[in-house]
Amino acid sequence: MTPLTPPPPELAGAILTIDLDAVVANWRHIGQRSGARETAAVVKADAYGLGARMVVPALAAAGCKSFFVAHLTEALHLIDLLPPGGQIAVLNGLTPGAEVVCAQAGVLPVLNSMGQARRWQAYAQTLGRPLPALLQVDSGMSRLGVAPAEARALAQDPVFRAAVPLRAVMSHLACADDPKDPANTDQLAAFLAMAELFPGTARSLANSGGCLMGGAFGGDLARPGLALYGAQPAAMPDPAIRPVVTLEARIMQIRKVPAGAGAGYGLTWHAAGPSLLATLGIGYADGWLRSLSGHGSAFAKGHILPFAGRISMDSTIIDISSLPEDALVEGDLVELIGPNRPIEAVASEAGTIAYEILTSLGARYARHYLPHQAQIRAEAAA
Ligand SMILES: *Cc1c(COP(=O)(O)O)cnc(C)c1O
Repeated sequence: MTPLTPPPPELAGAILTIDLDAVVANWRHIGQRSGARETAAVVKADAYGLGARMVVPALAAAGCKSFFVAHLTEALHLIDLLPPGGQIAVLNGLTPGAEVVCAQAGVLPVLNSMGQARRWQAYAQTLGRPLPALLQVDSGMSRLGVAPAEARALAQDPVFRAAVPLRAVMSHLACADDPKDPANTDQLAAFLAMAELFPGTARSLANSGGCLMGGAFGGDLARPGLALYGAQPAAMPDPAIRPVVTLEARIMQIRKVPAGAGAGYGLTWHAAGPSLLATLGIGYADGWLRSLSGHGSAFAKGHILPFAGRISMDSTIIDISSLPEDALVEGDLVELIGPNRPIEAVASEAGTIAYEILTSLGARYARHYLPHQAQIRAEAAA
């Protein structure tokens, strides 16, 4: 028997297209808006679901040298892709027991607590060489970072300062999606007061929303994530942020149903009149959120095509009655995220934010990377 050849990815139930040129353009643009001396890239959660092992080389080729992830394992997964002189930092900090691996790999921990600072210092003393890190201070979000008195204690401790050269002092904004929120300027003031304890050390405060606020928020090292991946970080859209993601789902079946017919689990949808339904090969197991049931829609042939009933695990039914009967056929693709279905609209229909839509993107999609398609094929074959 001849061995089976797997079907080409083009036959997948849904196709995700990721424009790496747009990621790079967004990185340049958001960096300029921030006014920061250097723009890093936050590539945690597999570059917000888009594939960090594709995104990091594209950004590195464009000159990005500093990368942030949330977990040490994410850093280890990417470290071979760093450009010469590049660095990768772990936002979630230094887990007890991670000191050896972190130091051996040359990963920078973000020191978030006194325990973490002292353990990193102690390990540097054991090794007899300085171990660089970033220090996070809590400027008002009460999530991660040392308190003002703790920052002062570290700043005034010559042993800590010698053992742990700080690459940056950082903090994180809680309300950067709303530039008018007074919490932003409160946090900026609190941050600057603590950063001043470490003269000459780079300051890093701005996520994507902070980059758009610019000015003093930009600091020395900007840390955008979301905007790189083509989503708008604040209510006031910046038209220069280019969309990155297109998601298309395939029509598996088309059927005519009479008035009154129900569709999907629980039969929560009923045909108001004779209707044409199409079933798509995408469901909540693909990260196509079940909360879109009854709210979301697809786009094809110039028409918005509403979902009919609940999203299933592997399929989604759409009502295509507004189209002529033969406008769509089995095997056709419809747009779920793209120019006609912006990610912000999808997020709002799902009752969530673009961050969650992106980081939920599923493992079963065929992924196309623009403009590096040939490169992907080579990597997949290896
Ligand atoms: C995720 C994260 C960022 C990036 O935030 P975006 O809003 O996606 O730009 C920056 N800094 C920290 C500490 C983060 O956790």
